[in-house]
Amino acid sequence: MGIALTARAVFLGGPGAGKGTQAKRLAAAAGIAHISTGDMLRQHVANGTPLGIQARAFMDAGKLVTDELIVAMVKERIQQPDASSAWILDGFPRTLSQARSLDRMLGASPVTHAIYFLVPDAVLKDRLEGRRTCGKCGAIWHVRTQPTARDGICDHCGGALQQRVDDRAEAIDRRLQEFHTTTAAPLQLHYRERGVLHVLDANRSPEVVYRDLAKLVQS
Ligand code: AMP
Repeated sequence: MGIALTARAVFLGGPGAGKGTQAKRLAAAAGIAHISTGDMLRQHVANGTPLGIQARAFMDAGKLVTDELIVAMVKERIQQPDASSAWILDGFPRTLSQARSLDRMLGASPVTHAIYFLVPDAVLKDRLEGRRTCGKCGAIWHVRTQPTARDGICDHCGGALQQRVDDRAEAIDRRLQEFHTTTAAPLQLHYRERGVLHVLDANRSPEVVYRDLAKLVQS
């Protein structure tokens, strides 16, 4: 169902909290840009660009790519015509320095909603370990909670499913640790001070989370 939306929203939350799934759906329903820094970086890695080559080692180890690289990439993207008035930023900002850079970039048209997807760590770990992504259409599955009809094959397009390198146990622990120390507390504070923070209980079915999210961003 289409919805009218002029939000400039940032989606915050741990890895596997459902930011990407919800951002994709909401952006499609509202006809606005979905800007995922993780997806953009993976594309750079796949294309072997200089940025991709620099970012790859950080990503595979579950570490954050440097603020400088990320901010430059987002700045360029947000100046594109499809992102002139409304967008969803998924996975950015992840540090206080990134949040401040974004504030400067936006000037008089600041972030309207910062949605914090709240999910307990144990649930995030389980979601990430079982997550499989279609290499062809990008659909996201889970080996236990959302399995495909045929093992390893996407139900939507027949593409082969892949496990992200950073969805392996060691990298997951590092990403969760990084999330708690660098992202969660400082960014909640940053956006609470600006009066735009909303905490969303994302430990529920995607349908229920979406219903609440759609209400939130239209308010
Ligand atoms: P994601 O798909 O959002 O989980 O991002 C995958 C990986 O890309 C992260 O683990 C980081 O290595 C990198 N990345 C994505 N967004 C950012 C960001 N805003 N700052 C630093 N690194 C990022």
